Amino acid sequence: MSRPILPGATVGVLGSGQLGRMFAIAARRMGYRVHTFSPGDDTPMGQVADREAVGDYNDLDAVAEFASRVDVVTFEFENVPFDAARTASEHVPVRPRGEVLHTAQHRQREKDFLAGAGFPTAPFEHVPDFATLESALARLGTPAVLKTAGFGYDGKGQAVIRDSGEAEAAWQAIGAGEAVLEGFVDFEREISVVAARGCDGEFAHYGVTENRHRDHILDVSIPDPDIDPRIAEQAVEIAQGVLEALDVVGVLCVEFFLKTDGSLVINELAPRPHNSGHFSFDACVTSQFEQQLRAVCALPLGDTRRLRPSAMVNLLGDLWADGMPDWRAALADPALKLHLYGKAAARPGRKMGHMTAFGENGEDAARHAIAARDVLVAGRGRT
Ligand code: AMP
Repeated sequence: MSRPILPGATVGVLGSGQLGRMFAIAARRMGYRVHTFSPGDDTPMGQVADREAVGDYNDLDAVAEFASRVDVVTFEFENVPFDAARTASEHVPVRPRGEVLHTAQHRQREKDFLAGAGFPTAPFEHVPDFATLESALARLGTPAVLKTAGFGYDGKGQAVIRDSGEAEAAWQAIGAGEAVLEGFVDFEREISVVAARGCDGEFAHYGVTENRHRDHILDVSIPDPDIDPRIAEQAVEIAQGVLEALDVVGVLCVEFFLKTDGSLVINELAPRPHNSGHFSFDACVTSQFEQQLRAVCALPLGDTRRLRPSAMVNLLGDLWADGMPDWRAALADPALKLHLYGKAAARPGRKMGHMTAFGENGEDAARHAIAARDVLVAGRGRT
């Protein structure tokens, strides 16, 4: 059995965004100290952490110094260089292992892992250069989606190619670097499974969540959507298989396309708590953030049961375009839970916060959440 890291100990987090902030809130509630390391200062996590270390992930001396002052290291951001994880692991346990990040931070490695282990993916081709793109398109056909191999998220670094004449423009649009070409998936819905695996292999999951996107960015998440229970079961089984195959300790999200024929295809993996699991903070016995803490500290995993049907809406920077959103109007719904991440600059598309609402069922909760977000801008200026 792994030695538990008990309350009073210090957890180090590489990364400092909203996922780290919510992790820190969960950890501090349970009596842990939390340190964050990232290049920024006054970050969403730094604002609530015991210590905000500012440094470059490639400065391995700084990473080593950070790791030497904590009891365990985890992540809230998967694009941390593998060498930083390896350096940290010379001092303390790093959970999940750096190899998990290494796989998930690069689309080609991730797809090779998934396909090699027999998990369902869209057809894909490695595209190291433009010459290869043409032959890859000939094999996969159109439409297809060209994605940068590394450091892409929320649809960034992606271009849809509808016919081969668009190849050159797509190649330039994604920055003319190493890429992956994927067959276009004609999906009915996008769903995800957030799951956790403990140090001794214990498994827990948050069931299936339906994710509705706007401009490639997650807009609304609805846990427990009305889908065939056999598909939901299959999605959870696949997620469990992925966590086991990668030997994950921590939380990992598997994002799927649910195709019109009822089959599932994995879109991507996120080896950390995920936006589609934010509902768990207010609507579950144990949030995904507390679950990450429990997993990386070798504690028993918590109960993922729902307290009430819920839904989550993201609050993007666009809502600030004409001034501060009208928080008071949204909070007129007494059951609404508002989360703001402490980011100073509200840029379009930037995730500034989210809201969780409750209802009779998921769709009802989604209506409440969307209505609360609508009044954020509708009522502005009248008071
Ligand atoms: P990603 O950043 O890979 O999660 O992609 C962002 C969004 O683009 C997804 O949530 C989908 O809505 C869409 N998308 C990505 N890949 C594909 C694909 N192969 N086929 C159809 N739509 C896709």
